[in-house]
Formats: sequence, C-alpha cells, structure tokens
Amino acid sequence: MLIKPSKKLIYLDHAATTPVRPEVLRAMAPFWSVEYGNPSALYKLGVHARQALEKARSGVASVLSCRPQEVIFTAGGSESINLALLGVARYYRKTHPLSFSPPDTGGARGGTKHNGHIITSAIEHHAVMHAANALEQEGFAVTRIGVNREGVFNINELKNAIRPDTFLVSLMYANNEIGTIEPIAEIGNIIKNINAKRMTLSPKPLALSPIFFHTDACQAAGYLDLNVDKLHVDLLTLNGSKIYGPKQTGCLFARKGTPLEPIIYGGGQELTLRSGTENVPGIVGFAKALPLAQAERARETKRLIVLRDYFIAQILKHIPKARLNGPIESRAKQYPSSVSVRLPNNIHVSFADVDGEALMLYLDAHNIAVATGSACTSESTKPSHVLKAIGLSSKESFGSIRFTLGKQTTKAELNYVLKVLPLLVAQQRKMMGLH
Ligand SMILES: *Cc1c(COP(=O)(O)O)cnc(C)c1O
Repeated sequence: MLIKPSKKLIYLDHAATTPVRPEVLRAMAPFWSVEYGNPSALYKLGVHARQALEKARSGVASVLSCRPQEVIFTAGGSESINLALLGVARYYRKTHPLSFSPPDTGGARGGTKHNGHIITSAIEHHAVMHAANALEQEGFAVTRIGVNREGVFNINELKNAIRPDTFLVSLMYANNEIGTIEPIAEIGNIIKNINAKRMTLSPKPLALSPIFFHTDACQAAGYLDLNVDKLHVDLLTLNGSKIYGPKQTGCLFARKGTPLEPIIYGGGQELTLRSGTENVPGIVGFAKALPLAQAERARETKRLIVLRDYFIAQILKHIPKARLNGPIESRAKQYPSSVSVRLPNNIHVSFADVDGEALMLYLDAHNIAVATGSACTSESTKPSHVLKAIGLSSKESFGSIRFTLGKQTTKAELNYVLKVLPLLVAQQRKMMGLH
C-alpha cells in the first residue's frame, strides 16, 4: 500500500445508488410496524394506509406539476420503464393493424410486416435497451438514434427516423454513465408539433397514432427540472434509490390519455396498472425523498459543479494520458436548451494502458468506492454500449472509471483520492511494463 487507506469510506458511486437520508427513514418508520394496514382494507387501519398513499401521490404530483391520478407507484426505475414501453406497445398492438416498414429503414427490416415503430437511443440504460430489444423480438420495429462525441442525441437523426407508424419514443433525460444532460424539452416540443399535425390528417392512415414520449429521468431528479409540461413528455420514470430514498421504489408519470396495458396483473391496484399490495413504507419514503431532492437541487448543483470541475482539472493535470469522457461544460453554450450539459456530480475518465477493474479494486483497498464504466455492466467484460456510442475503442473503454459525487462528498475526500489515484495509475502502468 503506497498510502494508508482512508479510515472513512469515500463513496463516489452515487449514480449507482445513494444512502437513505434520515428524514426518509423517519417518515417510513411507522409504516413498517404500527401503520401496517393494507390500503385496500376499509377499516381504520387500512384507511390510514390509504391516506398516506394518496398524500404521497399528491406530493409527487406537485413536484412533477401533474395530477395525482397520473402518478403510478412502482418498484423502481426498471419497472416503470418496462411499464411505459411494454404498456404502450401492447396497447398499440391491440388497437392498430400490422404495417409495412419502408424498404429503406435499416434496423427495422425494410419491407417486412410489423406491429409499429419505436424510437430509442444507443445510450439508454439497460432497462430501456432490453425492453426495446424484447419488443423487437415481439415484432415491433425499433430504431436506435446515435449521439455525438459528448453523448448528446442527434436531433436530425431523430427527426428523420420518425415514420407514420411511429407511436413511441423513449429517450433518457440524463445519462447514467457519462453524465450527459439531453435536450428533452426541445425533443418533446418537436414530437408535440408532429402530433398536432397528425391530428389534422384526414382520412387518418390506419397505423397512425399520436407519438407517446417517454423519458427515463432516474439520474435527473436530484439536479434537473421535472415539470412534465415544460418537458412535453407523456411518460416519465423516476426511482427512489438515486435520490436518497429506498431501493425498489419509484413511479411512472403517465399523462392522462396515454394508453397503457398493465404488465403485472392481479387485484387492480394503482389504477389497475400495477397490481399487488402497495409498498406503503417505500412509497412514503420515495415521496419524502423526491421533494427534498428537488428543493436542494439548485444549491447542490452549484456546490457539486465546483467540486466536479476541480476534480477533473486536477486529474487531467496530474495524470498523464487521462481523458474526460462525456460533455465538456465550457461548451454548454452550444446547447441552448440547458444551462449545463453535464450532470453536476459526474466525472468519467479513461486512463490509457490501465485496467479499470483492477484500478477500481485498488481504490477499494484504499476505501474509495467508484464504478468502472456503469455499475450495471460491471459483471460483464463487454465494453459499455455508451462508451462505444460516443466512439471509444474497447481498449479505451477498459481503462475507464466513473466517479459520481453526492450530498456527503467533500473537497477533503477528493483531495485524498487525488493523492492516491496518480500513484495507483503509475504503479499499474509500471507493472504492465508500459511506462
Ligand atoms: C438506476 C437507473 C435505472 C434503473 O432503476 P432501478 O430503480 O434500479 O430499477 C434506470 N435508468 C437509469 C438512468 C438509472 O440510472
């Protein structure tokens, strides 16, 4: 060991999950034990639980500026995403005839019969990516739009991809690996205008439906505006575990009139869209965490941007052959729809001639927790699809580390990392005989 390990854990993986904050724990506590009623029961204990549930729903709705009936509580981000994608697609399949894809559409198997067309991107979270793959297997056509070097969606590619049988677009609000903030409001506005034109068509082609727009906002809730009208979205996914709330909690916002088939059948809870006895403590915890995260976001954004940019500058200055992946904040002016283009807590760096996984383990030995690429890919050795989409070679991808800061992160912690990191990188390169 070159330097003594930190006594305290330096947790820099807040994009993977966050600790539950004390206010949330306190709010949840009674619902595990004394207020354990089933919200569907009609006696007092059940009514209490129902009241807590509906209070939580109103609280979440006011953060999103939507109606309480538009909030469906789920068991987290992945479930919300699956409900959005599979739910809209299955409804569409039930109500629209098969259509032919135009012969010139690459991924969509031109000329063949299919159920309708979905657009997503090359950098989505696995939940969106794999749900879209499953729908493709079920006979839907899927187009995945690309991004530039910084991970920003190619809007022209999106516009060109839209076809008369396109009924669903799913694009993330902020990327979990490289921290790119996407121009969701701008895209939402484009889709809204297309839908307005579709309304005036007469006669309507049989496959025509409005395009429903879903955004995965799991990484956005701590830092970005979640007003669903300003974003022009029909569906929005949130989870608790990224905003100091409990794991396996979250919600799907589904705008009134957005048709959805359930993916979980049973007793008909959550407006029949998500059956199963409601997770009352979890829902109360999520509904406590979300407004707190939003109330603190302006202050946290300011504080973390300073720490983030300091950390980036020091790494690039003191470690040879290190490069930042994702957006470069000084170029934010190019993107009119946002003040910032990179999540305030995200630092993603590639170190040439370094094995990212080994580096992560050496950092862990110093009590520093980071991610290699994305937490969800850390069990596989495949290079991340996001890094591939921004043009990194697999070699560059393997030497990359994601640091994501959080509420408890201090400059002193980062300074400790900045002492350890250059030594570990140099040591590894020396062992590999490369420098
Ligand atoms: C974490 C995450 C998810 C998945 O959420 P779970 O609650 O873990 O199911 C989806 N999308 C993004 C962008 C995420 O960061």
